Amino acid sequence: MDEFPVRTVEALCLGTSLALSGIFYYVYRKKRKTVDKLNDAPHLTLDGKLTDILNVTPGKCLQYVVIEGAVQPVGEPLRSQFQDGSVGVVQKLMLREHKLVWNGLARTWTDSERVLHQRVNAVPFNLVGSDEATVRVLCPLEASGLDMEIIHEKFHQATYGFTDIIGQYLSGEKPKGQLETEEMLKVGATLTGVGELILDTDRALKLRPPTDGSEYFLSTADFETLRVEQENQAVVWQVLASVFALAGAAVLLWVGRRYYRKLRVRWEQDRLRREFERLEAGAQRVGVVSAGSEASQDIPIENACVICLSQPRGCVLLDCGHVCCCFSCYEALPQRTCPICRQNIRRVVPLYQA
Ligand SMILES: [Zn+2]
Ligand SMILES: [Zn+2]
Repeated sequence: MDEFPVRTVEALCLGTSLALSGIFYYVYRKKRKTVDKLNDAPHLTLDGKLTDILNVTPGKCLQYVVIEGAVQPVGEPLRSQFQDGSVGVVQKLMLREHKLVWNGLARTWTDSERVLHQRVNAVPFNLVGSDEATVRVLCPLEASGLDMEIIHEKFHQATYGFTDIIGQYLSGEKPKGQLETEEMLKVGATLTGVGELILDTDRALKLRPPTDGSEYFLSTADFETLRVEQENQAVVWQVLASVFALAGAAVLLWVGRRYYRKLRVRWEQDRLRREFERLEAGAQRVGVVSAGSEASQDIPIENACVICLSQPRGCVLLDCGHVCCCFSCYEALPQRTCPICRQNIRRVVPLYQA
C-alpha cells in the first residue's frame, strides 16, 4: 500500500460524526433510563395512610415515587414584589437586556439577549393532600421541570438621542430595552413531585433528590405531561445519535469506494503486464524478436520511445494502435491514455519484428 487511504478531511468528518453520535447516544441512554424509571415509579396518594406504608417499608424510604399535592408554606410565604396579594414559596426575579447586534456575515441586525440580574428565593414548603397529610419538599431548586407561573413581565424601552444613534452604528450594538420578569410557585398550586420519599426521625414525610442519582422532578404540570415531555426529549437525542452515526457510515463508504477504485486500477495494470510478458515469452519461443528486446544502442531516432528517447518502441497501445513508447514508459504513464492521441488504453501488446 503506497499511501494511507484516508484523507485528513475525511478522517476529521469521520471522527467528528462518530464522537457526536457517541455523545448523543450517551445522553439518549441517560434520558431513556429516566423515562423507564418514571414509567416504573409507583404513584402514591398523599393521605393519612402514607405514614403507615412508610413505617413498614425497610429503611423507611421509598426510592422513587410520584406524589401530588397542594403547595403550602411551612412558615411565612414569599410576597410578590410586583403583584399585590400574590404569595408563593419559590420566586425567581430576572432582568434581561435585549439588544440588536450587527451581524457582519449576514449583513443584518440580529436579536441578542443577556441576563443582567437573576435572583431566586425559596422558603420551606409542604405538599398537602387529603386528611391534612403533608410531605415536606427538600431542595426544590435542585429539581428539574419546575416551570413556574410568570406573574409579572414588563419591558422597559430604551430611549436614545442623536449622538447615541451614531455611537450605535459605530459599535454595531443597538439596545432595545430591558425585560423584567417575576416567576412564582404560588401557594395553593398543585405540584407533582418525583423523588425519594422518607419517613424522618421526627415522623415527618419528606421528599428529596434520590440518593441513587436518578433525576428529581417537581412540576406544576401533571405526571403524564412530564413523562411525555421526557420521552420526547429521549426521541430527539436518539434521532440525533442516529443521524450522526449514519453520517459516519457514509464517510466510511465514501473512503471504501475510493480505495476500491484505486485497487481496481492496480489490478488492471497487473493484468496488462502479465499479458504483455506472456505474449513476449511466447514470441521468443518461436524465434521472433520483439522490438523492445533489441540492444539499446544505435536506435534510429524515428524508432525511439517518444518519452525516454533511449529505448526502442516496444509495444502497441490498443485500441488506437499507436506504437510510440517502450513498455517501462507505458507503465509509468500517470493515466491509462495514449500519449499521442489521448485515447483510453484497453490493452497493450508487444511489437514484433519477424
Ligand atoms: Zn521509453
Ligand atoms: Zn493513440
